[in-house]
Amino acid sequence: MTRDPRFDVLFEPIRIGPVTAPNRFYQVPHCNGMGHLYPSSMAEMRGVKAEGGWGVINTEECEISHTSELTPAIESRLWDDSDIPVLAKMVDRIHAHGGLAGIEPAHLGAGVANNYSREIPMGPSARPIDLPEPVQARRMDKADIKAFRKMHVDAALRAKTAGFDIVYVYAGHDMTTLMHFLMADRNDRMDEYGGSLENRVRLMREVIEDTKEAIGDTCAVAVRLAVDEMRGPSGISSDGEGREIVEMLAELPDLWDVNVSGWENDSATSRFSDEGYQTDYIRFVKGVTSKPVVGVGRFTSPDTMVSLINKGVLDLIGAARPSIADPFLPKKVEEGRIEDIRECIGCNICVTGDFLMNPMRCTQNPTMGEEWRKGWHPERIAPKTSNDSVLIVGGGPAGLEAARALGQRGYDVTLAEGRDTLGGRVHIESQLPGLTQWRRVADYREYQISQMPNVAVYRNSPLTADQVMEFEADHVVLATGADWDITGIGRSNRRPVPGHDKGTVMGADAICAGDAPTGPVVIWDDDYYYMAGLLAEKLRSDGHDVTYVTPMADVSTWTHNTMEQDRIQTRLMTMGVKIIPLHTLSAIHESHVELTCIYTDAVKGVPCGTLIPVAMRNARHDLYDKLKDRAPSLTLIGDCHAPGTIAAAVYAGHRYARELGEAAVEGVPFKRELPQLAVD
Ligand code: ADP
Ligand code: SF4
Repeated sequence: MTRDPRFDVLFEPIRIGPVTAPNRFYQVPHCNGMGHLYPSSMAEMRGVKAEGGWGVINTEECEISHTSELTPAIESRLWDDSDIPVLAKMVDRIHAHGGLAGIEPAHLGAGVANNYSREIPMGPSARPIDLPEPVQARRMDKADIKAFRKMHVDAALRAKTAGFDIVYVYAGHDMTTLMHFLMADRNDRMDEYGGSLENRVRLMREVIEDTKEAIGDTCAVAVRLAVDEMRGPSGISSDGEGREIVEMLAELPDLWDVNVSGWENDSATSRFSDEGYQTDYIRFVKGVTSKPVVGVGRFTSPDTMVSLINKGVLDLIGAARPSIADPFLPKKVEEGRIEDIRECIGCNICVTGDFLMNPMRCTQNPTMGEEWRKGWHPERIAPKTSNDSVLIVGGGPAGLEAARALGQRGYDVTLAEGRDTLGGRVHIESQLPGLTQWRRVADYREYQISQMPNVAVYRNSPLTADQVMEFEADHVVLATGADWDITGIGRSNRRPVPGHDKGTVMGADAICAGDAPTGPVVIWDDDYYYMAGLLAEKLRSDGHDVTYVTPMADVSTWTHNTMEQDRIQTRLMTMGVKIIPLHTLSAIHESHVELTCIYTDAVKGVPCGTLIPVAMRNARHDLYDKLKDRAPSLTLIGDCHAPGTIAAAVYAGHRYARELGEAAVEGVPFKRELPQLAVD
């Protein structure tokens, strides 16, 4: 296939100061939970993106000094020369595929506690640090500012030695010292670095100039600036100081990488934002500078990308999540394979890696983070090792991915789905408020499978054990999913809640299927992810009286890790959902439920016509139980193995496909990155 000429503009080389990007596909800096602890994983992951056609690939934020370290978060590091080889490895992987490598040196000042180095954090003003820890930052004096500038110069020189082509000056996400100097309410200095905007910009200007002087002959100097904090006139805004800062520094850097802050606004989920959600905030920048401009907005559509270029909004299409979900997005556009793009669903499972301090995972791309340690490539997979046939029962994310990847390997695959629609839970959940884009998990796989003559799909085919056996497949894979439990058992209640069998209880599955509850509704959230909060939102907007109960301190508490918690709680409170935190569900009666305070054991009654427990799911095991002594090769994958995230189900399907017919690995099934034992 050949490229559609209307996308030609995306493949034009773009000059950025002394270097030239081969095209307009630009992977902006993004965290990945690998950084300095899993550097080979990080390097390979970035290299695969270069192979997939991204013209520029950046690091995540890179700590430039031990005086500003984010332990236990896993970012990259350039504290001294000993860190250079780690980053050089990443650069080499990127250069091998013709991409430019960029680095985002970061000093996080009052944003960090320095729990490893035990240095006192410092910032423009003496304030508590942003993290909820008993630590305060001290005000930087003139010597600190001098040292701070030198840290940036040293980092830039080391970056150049490592081979980087682009070096950032980073003032974004309400997170870096440079941004804190810019912000009037964080900077209360009376000297030439505080007060007027010109004074607050002074340090930023100096660092850009220092960086250019140090490495600007061969490396481009990019500025990353949050032009809008999305808190109106009280913060930096694109029609206020954000614009003025760009005007003041317009021609100084070689590239403007502009976004909004904080990170939860920059990486907003699809539940709360559409593709291109930043465009209105950043569109002014190109009118103010002649330098190339890059911006993000979860862009996955090449038509949108072209229109942004043609309308003069952007010169380079920035992407973090779209490049994670599909490292080969640019290649697919180049080769005229638009339908093959695996579009990001905007769920922020990738972001959870940073908060939970583990290598990043992606719902859409099961190979993310496995490129080095398992040798998994997002596009390539080993051919089949036999002519065995495989029957997959269940067409949810696990079954669909297993079918797709087995089909890619060349196996003869039959996929039987009981319902008339493929997608399983993804299809159902995508009909809940704000989750439309989650359907992409099924859409991508359904289309891929439809192109494979060796994969047969049967809808409306709920298989019994006998039917499975009659099929005589060499391998049977059960991907039959899970149902929400209705007894109230979960983390808080180890036994069924008294009264659960009295008819007042409805399962979350029934609500998802559109059944209506009666009377006042109580939703019991002992799960803490999105489902209970979403059901509250749905039922409240359908006009029900809804009370949300959780033993945690806030609503949908795990969504702190996807950066959605604030928005979810705000939405529920605004809609009039009654929220009762810090209580467990202890009994269910005909017209009310009993709740117990987790601290005092005080019991209170809350009116309840329908109780909806969202606490745990039960794997659909019945088919397995009937087949386990009959089918010669039988495997459970996804939620019917153990209910979990959609990402875990996709991964399970992919893993099954990778491992079928391959020699079993003894011991740990992946390569490890071990700490180096010091010699002295
Ligand atoms: P997972 O997340 O593990 O993929 P899902 O619950 O999303 O699980 O999907 C499971 C799918 O399996 C559902 O679409 C369901 O209709 C289907 N399914 C369950 N039991 C059978 C069966 N016996 N025959 C065919 N399809 C089944
Ligand atoms: Fe997109 Fe979700 Fe993958 Fe992140 S985890 S890249 S948001 S699909």
